[in-house]
Amino acid sequence: MPSTFTHEFNAHAFKGKVSFSTGIFVNGQFQDGSDNTTIDVINPTTGKVITSVSEGTAKDVDVAVDAAQKAYDTVWGLNAPGTQRSILMSKLAALMQENADELAALEALDNGKTFNWAKNADVAGSIDCIRYYAGWADKISGQTQETTMDKLTYTRHEPIGVVGQIIPWNFPCTYISTVLMMAWKLGPALACGNTIVLKPSEFTPLTAIRMCHLINEAGFPPGVVNVITGYGHTVGNAISSHMHVDKVAFTGSTLVGRKIMEAAAKSNLKNVTLELGGKSPNIIYDDADLEQAVNWAAFGIFWNHGQTCCAGSRIFVQEGIYDEFLKRFTEKTRSLKVGDPFAPDTFQGPQVSEVQFNRIMSYIESGKQAGAKVEVGGERIGTEGYFIKPTIFTNVDPSMKIVQEEIFGPVGVVIKFKDEEDVIKQANDTVYGLAAAVFTQNLNRAINTAHKLKAGTAWINCVNSLHSNVPFGGFKQSGIGRELGEYALNNYTAVKAVHVNLGHKM
Ligand code: NAD
Repeated sequence: MPSTFTHEFNAHAFKGKVSFSTGIFVNGQFQDGSDNTTIDVINPTTGKVITSVSEGTAKDVDVAVDAAQKAYDTVWGLNAPGTQRSILMSKLAALMQENADELAALEALDNGKTFNWAKNADVAGSIDCIRYYAGWADKISGQTQETTMDKLTYTRHEPIGVVGQIIPWNFPCTYISTVLMMAWKLGPALACGNTIVLKPSEFTPLTAIRMCHLINEAGFPPGVVNVITGYGHTVGNAISSHMHVDKVAFTGSTLVGRKIMEAAAKSNLKNVTLELGGKSPNIIYDDADLEQAVNWAAFGIFWNHGQTCCAGSRIFVQEGIYDEFLKRFTEKTRSLKVGDPFAPDTFQGPQVSEVQFNRIMSYIESGKQAGAKVEVGGERIGTEGYFIKPTIFTNVDPSMKIVQEEIFGPVGVVIKFKDEEDVIKQANDTVYGLAAAVFTQNLNRAINTAHKLKAGTAWINCVNSLHSNVPFGGFKQSGIGRELGEYALNNYTAVKAVHVNLGHKM
């Protein structure tokens, strides 16, 4: 029998007891993994174990895929009308709303993100996303095509089948969390009629497991959603190389994205969509509203502790305002409160894990070694938990690792530029292309620059803005396909063309 996770929250922001089973979720049941092993879940605020959850295996993935296929063939897929899918998804959104405080508290505990952000951005964004796609479930439609007089030709947008979904521990932009990543994946897949085998990150499984309880409560038929907690090289690899998984949707690092694509190619050539990393430029022209640019730039790089795929980690500042910007930006950075994720005034909590903490500290060290100047931060805070001071480097050059590689922590570089041509060249000089931001009060310059940046999202006078209706995804090595909005439906439908002979004889 899988263990029950029980926790009494007694924080200013949330008081209450939570208690739920922590098994892998297959065919509507919680059960132990086939090897009866578990994974420890660590609280990043203290570095101590919170609980342990069942560790799934490749064998469990096989069982989950069979359950998903059976559900697809009998109660979901082409057997469940869109209205029914829509009703169940709306119920799930309502249950998430009822349990919003609990979901946010679990994210704060497990991920280290602040309770306020978890509740008002992640959980609120997740509910919005499931509601948005509930609205689409009965509106998936094809087209009719004009061909010849004696033929009727039309397309059907059918579900793909059993889809595998592998998600990270953070989130993407304005929101960041397991619960949000899960909503982005479940929403369009369920709306289009697919069944699902999902793997959350081994670092942050709690909200994903809690969501399974809500999925049961909402009344989804068993097998429509299956969630296997476990490691990437076992469960994740089993999903992406499975011969009976028809599609894999992945969010995570570019490194693992490559492995997913390779596994798909070597198995059944399953359809692949990837949401990967970034090294996003944030461009601040001389004529920007300086105070606003400073505030947004800080939000762009330090929000969610810098663990944001679209973090504005390369801040380009035009030479006329460079000194003043840097002065104000370092002051702003020093003012950000780092600490207990449950405290109402905390801006930045701990990094998610010891591995991630060590990785970020090694990037900081590499910046120092390479001769970059630490303007502010550059060290850990305290000795317990995984807290890092928000850090800004200057005096960098394009060959440095801190300029080229995704750090995924509260570490930004500030770079001076001359004019538009210069900054576009520098901004596009990366293998990534997830997002970019431009700050200027000149509309023509804003739009021209936004159009020339090689990025899937361009923000003008803001950063990290996302909406369920608006597609999100990357150019270049930041990904393949788009999440959110109507665009995400393309990831989860297969187009069938039907030709009907209206009487033409051979
Ligand atoms: P990660 O790539 O290490 O892990 C992501 C998921 O893949 C986890 O569930 C992990 O267990 C699994 N995995 C690991 N190895 C695997 C393998 N061989 N086969 C199959 N699955 C495997 O990423 P992370 O550290 O969890 O998250 C941070 C990364 O995610 C960053 O690079 C970030 O930019 C990216 N990200 C991108 C977006 C986006 O929308 N573009 C959103 C969030 C995060």
